[in-house]
Amino acid sequence: MPEPIVGIDLGTTNSLVALCDERGPRILPAEQDRALLPSVVRFEPDGSVTVGEEAKDQAVQFPLTTVSSVKRLMGRSIEDARDDVAYLSYRVVSGEHNTARVAIPRGDAPDRIVSPQEVSAHILRELKRRAEAALGCPVRKAVVTAPAYFDDAQRQATRDAGRLAGLDVVRIVNEPTAAALAYGLGSTSRDVRTIAVYDLGGGTFDVSILRLTPKTDDGDGDGGDLPAFFQVLSTAGDTHLGGDDLDFALVALFTREIAEQAGRGGSGRDLGALSPQTRRALLSFARDVKHRLSEADEARIEIRVDDSATYSRTVTRAELDELMTPWIDKTIRACERALHDARRQIGPSGIEAVIMVGGSTRIPLVQRRVGAFFSLQPYTALDPDRVVALGASVQAAIISGTATDALLLDVIPLSLGIETVGGAVAKIILKNTTVPARAQEMFSTSVDGQTSIKLNIVQGEREMVEDCRSLGEFHLRGLPPMPAGIPKLRVELLVDASGILNVSAVEERSGRRAQLQVIPNHGLTREEVERIERESFAHAREDMAQHRVVDLVVNSELDLKWIGDTLARHGDGLGADDRAALVALVDRLRDIVVRAKADWRAVDPDAFFAAKDELDHASIRLQEVAITATLREPNERGEQIAGAS
Ligand code: ADP
Ligand code: MG
Repeated sequence: MPEPIVGIDLGTTNSLVALCDERGPRILPAEQDRALLPSVVRFEPDGSVTVGEEAKDQAVQFPLTTVSSVKRLMGRSIEDARDDVAYLSYRVVSGEHNTARVAIPRGDAPDRIVSPQEVSAHILRELKRRAEAALGCPVRKAVVTAPAYFDDAQRQATRDAGRLAGLDVVRIVNEPTAAALAYGLGSTSRDVRTIAVYDLGGGTFDVSILRLTPKTDDGDGDGGDLPAFFQVLSTAGDTHLGGDDLDFALVALFTREIAEQAGRGGSGRDLGALSPQTRRALLSFARDVKHRLSEADEARIEIRVDDSATYSRTVTRAELDELMTPWIDKTIRACERALHDARRQIGPSGIEAVIMVGGSTRIPLVQRRVGAFFSLQPYTALDPDRVVALGASVQAAIISGTATDALLLDVIPLSLGIETVGGAVAKIILKNTTVPARAQEMFSTSVDGQTSIKLNIVQGEREMVEDCRSLGEFHLRGLPPMPAGIPKLRVELLVDASGILNVSAVEERSGRRAQLQVIPNHGLTREEVERIERESFAHAREDMAQHRVVDLVVNSELDLKWIGDTLARHGDGLGADDRAALVALVDRLRDIVVRAKADWRAVDPDAFFAAKDELDHASIRLQEVAITATLREPNERGEQIAGAS
């Protein structure tokens, strides 16, 4: 294997390292939760350093020796950095040529003066170490990202940080460009050309408008092409706006309420009386509540204020939304400015894709507002806090010439569908459909009173879910309880020009909706697609039989339930012979269903179908009796039956 070139996102809040190989880009190390390295470095009295999670967790205890958000100081003079310094807990002093330096106190000894480059180098060295451990080989080269608005001095400082960490920074890539590369934009022939990248991180916000200049024949007659590249047309933003603001706002809210509670109790405790531990706990509770509210409608916290008092509260998503609306408004105004500045160059076609970057874009309200502003469904298929590192690794693979066989095609290589009852697959978009493609289908429920429907999105040619690839699942929650078969669930699949799949589900009676975005071909190679196709041919006959039995089971169970209920209510209206015949058919079908559920191979699908069909015919008389009875005595069920039409 040639020497790897890794991609690094050196962020204000978090940093990550990624590698792109023949399967496409992936974060190192592979374990999911340890991938983000907090960009926090603590300088110990003995000269050693602590980097990452531990330094972040203990930051409140060591405010003067813990350096966070050092990216704000990179390559900047003390004057340039003045606004930022107000937000930092540690001391910033003026170094050589007026550059910003960090002064770390060392007891009686003189302060230790460190440059922002050195601080960043500690972060980069830790990322290098992690990458080497994951890959089992030395890592010496990296592509590192920087905000689009970084000037030459800030970019040079980033390179120097790499050099100090023992890394050759082969290229500095703009963060929004990296995000676009991670989504594979710029690699397909029918690609989108004008992109907005909305990046809301921990402490900074920026929006960039990019234009893709496609691959062109350079006209020198050798058949060679000039590569596609992204040009940053405009950027706008706010270097002091991000998820941290929301954390602080929640802490302020909790603190106020704790004080009120104490006031009511008559103890007269004021804000200052909260211990540092309580305040630290409040901050981590605030962050936790915020993260949970990106998934749930409400989150509950309980904090022991002191030995005698506990503060507990439920925060709703609506409350959080209201709290953050002023900040979101600000980001939308920045989007307006960026768009205005780029307007002359982007022409009438406008923005064709919006990419969400930064952990704070997980917040549903942020996605809705940005989507509404650009009139587009924003791209969220990739983790917003990983997309920049992934893109940096794609750039690294391009530079190193690593063949990435990741699938980027103009047709959908494998069918896309959803799981239905019994583990069968309903294919919605068939393979070889050209992109963009859109298709929808109606579904319902098979159990009474379901208030939540799980949607499992699958890819593949086989008939059963267990033989297909699951691309992801989501839930449509909050449905009013309805009898089986009554909900009207419309599921729409849309694969856009750059191969991103949007799945949306709407229950039309209640209006509840949910959506999911994925990249179907992520991590698939051509060989795998071919293997999947071969397997589907080999199993086609057996699969069809299984799918048929599973469908028969589901439909038979609905029939048996209806017939059972109706017999109990209106069975008296039938002659004794008819009733006995019907009961015999019911018993026979029920027996087949039981056997089929134990092992689908144990039943003959044709015999199964015949038994169901015979029962259906035999029950017509019962239906007539039931309808006549219902018409004759309009009862409390009348409304429900009408609603079911
Ligand atoms: P940066 O680019 O500044 O390094 P990140 O992209 O890592 O920052 O974003 C960090 C921010 O994202 C933090 O404020 C964090 O609380 C926020 N964040 C992460 N996950 C979620 C989530 N699920 N819901 C809301 N905010 C989140
Ligand atoms: Mg970032």
